[in-house]
Amino acid sequence: MTVEKATGQPRVVIVGAGFAGLAAAKVLAKTPARVTIVDQHNYHLFQPLLYQLATGMLEPADIASPIRGIFHSRSGVYVQLGEVTGVDFDARQVLIEGDEPLAYDYLILAAGASVATFGIPGVEEYGFPLKSLAHSVRLRSHLLRQFELAEIDPSLVDEGALTVVVVGGGPTGVEMAGSTVELFHHVLKHDFPELEVGRSRVILLEATDHLLPPFHPESRQHAVETLQKRGVEVMTGQAMDRVTPNEVTLKDGTVIKTRTLVWAAGVRVCPLADALGVEQTRGGRVVVNDDLSLPGHPEVYVVGDMAASTQEQGGLLPQVAQVAIQGARYAGKQVKARIEGRTPDPKRFTYKDKGIMATIGRHAAVTELPNGPRFKGALAWFMWLALHLVYIVGYRSRLAALLNWAWNYITYDRHARLIFDPVEASEPAKEPVRELPPAAPVARAEADPVPAPQERRRPG
Ligand SMILES: Cc1cc2nc3c(=O)[nH]c(=O)nc-3n(C[C@H](O)[C@H](O)[C@H](O)COP(=O)(O)OP(=O)(O)OC[C@H]3O[C@@H](n4cnc5c(N)ncnc54)[C@H](O)[C@@H]3O)c2cc1C
Repeated sequence: MTVEKATGQPRVVIVGAGFAGLAAAKVLAKTPARVTIVDQHNYHLFQPLLYQLATGMLEPADIASPIRGIFHSRSGVYVQLGEVTGVDFDARQVLIEGDEPLAYDYLILAAGASVATFGIPGVEEYGFPLKSLAHSVRLRSHLLRQFELAEIDPSLVDEGALTVVVVGGGPTGVEMAGSTVELFHHVLKHDFPELEVGRSRVILLEATDHLLPPFHPESRQHAVETLQKRGVEVMTGQAMDRVTPNEVTLKDGTVIKTRTLVWAAGVRVCPLADALGVEQTRGGRVVVNDDLSLPGHPEVYVVGDMAASTQEQGGLLPQVAQVAIQGARYAGKQVKARIEGRTPDPKRFTYKDKGIMATIGRHAAVTELPNGPRFKGALAWFMWLALHLVYIVGYRSRLAALLNWAWNYITYDRHARLIFDPVEASEPAKEPVRELPPAAPVARAEADPVPAPQERRRPG
């Protein structure tokens, strides 16, 4: 019998310290319960700014905060590092890789989503996804290294060394394309004066006929025009067929020489959802009741990207931060009421839309508030900056992000343009490292004084 069971203290386990897990834990802190957050990383990651890490604007610690630090002053919240591999719903235990099972009285599952490659040949092996700190740091190193390689051997520019193809015209793809073109034209142009940086290409590829699907057509048009003015080649209605280390081939047969495919085209639910043995939607999200509890298990709640939470009028809610935060707060309050011997709220979970926004680059963004008001350009960009500052976790990270943004605003400089590959061994075991064949002909690679590109080893 565990200590908690002996003392009669209710045990709440929260799996995942993303937006949802943190929000639930904050509601449950200082209740009579012992709350344990289990995460495979020791940090909470602010995913919406991963593209800024990948393009040298911010550093890892600016967008990631140690979970233990977040809960220092909150009594009753404990943190455990570990990868959850499943749940024994009958025994009420969370199964953790290489560790003892963790018993619970209430469980909140908030393990998020992972990358979906839709089985497109080559994406898993050669694409650069943007879902984790390691992904972004590898992409940053890879982008910068292409410039170093091209300076040594300018013929590599013809081979696509300075060509970046971003796949996916949603907010992440738009943000990544806009930020990459700024990095090339405003920063790397000065770093590599002997290189024809003007010959670099940033291509944004979207299979449907428009960017930013949830936005108003006027906002979409603004995004396309702004990106094009800044040098991004926007290709809508063009689907990708396959990618190799040296080229991307489109469905219509067009071949684009490139060594960099940024994959911003889709998410799938986290692997844990598949391991639970419960009902899932086609995209893998866990089917939940209106109160976000798991059917047949009123003591288990599923929230955030992992849950197939629905609107009151039907239809799945989007996998975005606000849905995760609001759902987790609701589930946390339901659990809190039960722990305190009160009746949980009989009303279903209702999502309050607070609007949508996407940044396109310096002084350019689109913001749409619920019920109509739309903003674009510099005003929308300042709104975007302010909101992201509010939501970055921790005063230090906020201050660091603000300083970096201010520095970039004044100087255009991107201080974090470091070639620095993370040690693969520190990555979770389920993200295997794969070797890629060399992108350049062997003779040139051998003659190359620059070390073999580490970034070509990346998770599948
Ligand atoms: C590049 C990018 C840009 C985005 N931009 C925006 C944006 O601008 N606006 C917006 O609203 N949303 C954006 N999103 C979506 C938003 O980040 C997600 O909706 C949100 O993070 C979901 O929160 P969550 O808590 O459900 O999952 P997550 O934040 O993904 O957290 C899940 C946590 O669970 C942990 N975990 C997963 N599996 C296990 C396991 N087996 N064992 C232990 N721990 C585990 C993970 O380490 C992670 O800490 C973006 C996402 C990405 C990837």
